[in-house]
Amino acid sequence: MGRLVIVSNRVPDPRERNKPAGGLAVGLADALREDQQTLWFGWSGRQAESDVDPVPSLDTHGSVTYATVPLTHAQHRGYYQSFSNGILWPLCHYRLGLMNYSRTDWLQYLEVNRMFARTLAPLLKSDDVIWVHDYHLFPLAQALRELGVTAAIGFFLHIPFPPWSLFRALPPASALLDDMKAYDLIGVQTEEDAQNLWECLRVEGMTDPARVVACPIGIDPISFSEDAREAFDGPEVRRLRESLHDEPLIIGVDRLDYSKGLEERFLGYEKLLIRYPEHHRHVTYLQVAPVSRGEVEEYRLLRRQLDETIGRINGAFAAYDWTPIRYLTRPIARQTLAGFYRLADVALVTPLRDGMNLVAKEYVAAQNPENPGALVLSHLAGAAPELDEALLVNPHDADAIADALHLALTMKKEERKRRWDALNGEIRNTTAGSWARDFLRALNRSRKPGPG
Ligand code: UDP
Repeated sequence: MGRLVIVSNRVPDPRERNKPAGGLAVGLADALREDQQTLWFGWSGRQAESDVDPVPSLDTHGSVTYATVPLTHAQHRGYYQSFSNGILWPLCHYRLGLMNYSRTDWLQYLEVNRMFARTLAPLLKSDDVIWVHDYHLFPLAQALRELGVTAAIGFFLHIPFPPWSLFRALPPASALLDDMKAYDLIGVQTEEDAQNLWECLRVEGMTDPARVVACPIGIDPISFSEDAREAFDGPEVRRLRESLHDEPLIIGVDRLDYSKGLEERFLGYEKLLIRYPEHHRHVTYLQVAPVSRGEVEEYRLLRRQLDETIGRINGAFAAYDWTPIRYLTRPIARQTLAGFYRLADVALVTPLRDGMNLVAKEYVAAQNPENPGALVLSHLAGAAPELDEALLVNPHDADAIADALHLALTMKKEERKRRWDALNGEIRNTTAGSWARDFLRALNRSRKPGPG
């Protein structure tokens, strides 16, 4: 195989490896192989004054060359903030009511995809394999094809894909789907997403279902488990443990995003305190929720609402020596989180919709096999079909969350072990490495035979 060319909206800064990131950057970083020459292309995170096509900046670290371009202020607003995060994100998470469509944003989105294609194309070689990531770049393959690029191009969608009955509410739905036909292979996280996308593409006249595959992303469970063991003996975990006085800990870790079901989750925890008062003054729920997309109105509103809900619950239930919810909106380093997961008796992962949810897999990887904790997981997370030995809940049902938490907090060690064994088998089966290998193999196979 020739070079692997990864294209994603943001390219991680190689000097900030240990900075917390979203699932996409974590998954890809774990999947990169040292023996594979890789070019990683995308936005630098910087803004430019001029709207003349930028020349990519190149920066090589080991086998990976990072090639980045800036965006103008208007491109950043239209393509990234508005069309990607204000339109496609809510739509793909089944939240039509939060979608704020404008045609100007759509045109800006198309233009940035074409600019990416124009600035990437001169860097490409004919035997490259190109792998495009996520909803910011649906039209990129078509834009590259229009410039004469013939290399194999695959796409992976990290977020859910909704059914046609929802997707068709997007004004340029047809144009977007039509452009996606230029990919040789499209990977999504779950069978449900694959069915939905395939249904949409069929409406647009695509006839080959083999070009959509479900290929769930994973983590690197062995190195994560080592991180957890190491962090467990570190100063942060020690301080957290001492603060708990041998009482149980529930942990939640999510970007502060409306798709994560944080409000519903707090109400579920409140129900636990109402219906199972034996946990008062014992259990602590630590929610890590780093602020995300603070420039988008919905996210600012959500933050205010969560502040209010947590303040209300803590005000109503706290004792002078006990705080039911500890809430942090600053990020925590992933290695430290690994130790927190190992300490926590229960992980509460209840998104209303999620492409995959790596936190659920990380929690499993971080456990002590001799005394593992319990995972409470939304059945609407992409991870649920694989992690079906978790305590699966409907994230809209506060009473169900309360019952699952009570069950998790009182579960016997034998049952925790039995469930954890099954969960651990799953996360060791599909890892970040096997995800990338499986996808790229399928991409090679799906390559349409062409001239030469
Ligand atoms: N994460 C982190 N620090 C934080 C919060 C999250 O390092 O303070 C990491 C977390 O460990 C996981 C990723 O960010 O690896 C989140 O991925 P996930 O798939 O759960 O959600 P996404 O943010 O992609 O929606």
